[in-house]
Amino acid sequence: MAATVLEIDLAALTHNFNYLKAKVKPGVQLLAVAKAFGYGSDAVAVAGKLESLGVDYFAVAYAEEGVALRDGGITTPILVLHPQMGSFEAMIDHFLEPNLYSYRVIDAFIASAKAKQQQNYPVHIKFNTGLNRLGFKPGNEDQLLKILKATKAIQLKSLFSHLVASEDLNEKEFTLNQISTFKNCAKKMIDGLSYTPILHQSNTSGILNFPEAQFDMVRTGIGLYGYGNDPKEDTHLQPVATLKSVISQIHEIQVGESVGYNRAHIAKKPERSATIPLGHADGISREYGNGKGYVTIKGKKAPILGNVCMDMVMVNVTEIDCEEGDEVIIFGKGAPLPELAKKVGSISYELLTAISQRVKRKIINS
Ligand SMILES: *Cc1c(COP(=O)(O)O)cnc(C)c1O
Repeated sequence: MAATVLEIDLAALTHNFNYLKAKVKPGVQLLAVAKAFGYGSDAVAVAGKLESLGVDYFAVAYAEEGVALRDGGITTPILVLHPQMGSFEAMIDHFLEPNLYSYRVIDAFIASAKAKQQQNYPVHIKFNTGLNRLGFKPGNEDQLLKILKATKAIQLKSLFSHLVASEDLNEKEFTLNQISTFKNCAKKMIDGLSYTPILHQSNTSGILNFPEAQFDMVRTGIGLYGYGNDPKEDTHLQPVATLKSVISQIHEIQVGESVGYNRAHIAKKPERSATIPLGHADGISREYGNGKGYVTIKGKKAPILGNVCMDMVMVNVTEIDCEEGDEVIIFGKGAPLPELAKKVGSISYELLTAISQRVKRKIINS
């Protein structure tokens, strides 16, 4: 049995879902973002729990992620945020709903839907209101309406856009401008349609900072997994994923001895090192080496000594009363993740999704 596990706490997920649900106005739908293995957790387990809690929608980045959710028994609608050419047939076969973000993509999807004899297949259109990543330009509305009216194969289920800096209140003016730009695009589209699509623009920080941008639905990812891009918000949320391991071996290091590859650490005084079965192949990048990163043992921080190896790290436990076999927490409950990510200039999103599939996921409190 592997000693290193990523524990996925579904009770924490339930808490976060309820917290975020209470933040949105009555009637506003909640879309849960389950891309990248559910932010590195376990997409099917998380989606299954959220479905039982009554979530309205899911989103994934790619078709394959949506297929995995369908294969796992998820029946709630799934928006594919970044569908690729060549995946449309599989998407239709699994009832996955594409984000159509360019003329190239909308034309190709309509052709696929027609080829598969679809009628009113649900699709989503994205407007680029400032991120310059994916989406139609404001001003494309008339041309889009023409395309939509010319076919019965697809029907517009939602219109959406994505905020650039919803967590940064120094960029408030930019965000408010994005919100009003999106409102304008949406109005032009709705005026030209005989039905009303769902409107959505907010991610987690949008929910927390811009209640005026809730529209008909909000999309939340990081908040569900326990992080609010703000230390104050983090206190209201609970980490879903906790990365845990154990001490494999303890060494007494004499003055002048080195620890790890390339002798990157040399002891200046007598030290104790603990070896942990977790390395850069598991998602703890070499950036965390040489004292920048740490693990938590018995509630105390043990800094990483020398370089991170592929399958192991050595940590300094000179000041910690611990022994071989003792539990180690890397992040999660008992070891705040944002603080660790920050040590290497990273963010919660990156560290969560970096944990490789070699690390076993263990579902608790289901
Ligand atoms: C990933 C993503 C989200 C989720 O953002 P969080 O900050 O994790 O809530 C929402 N919308 C889009 C388009 C995304 O790509």
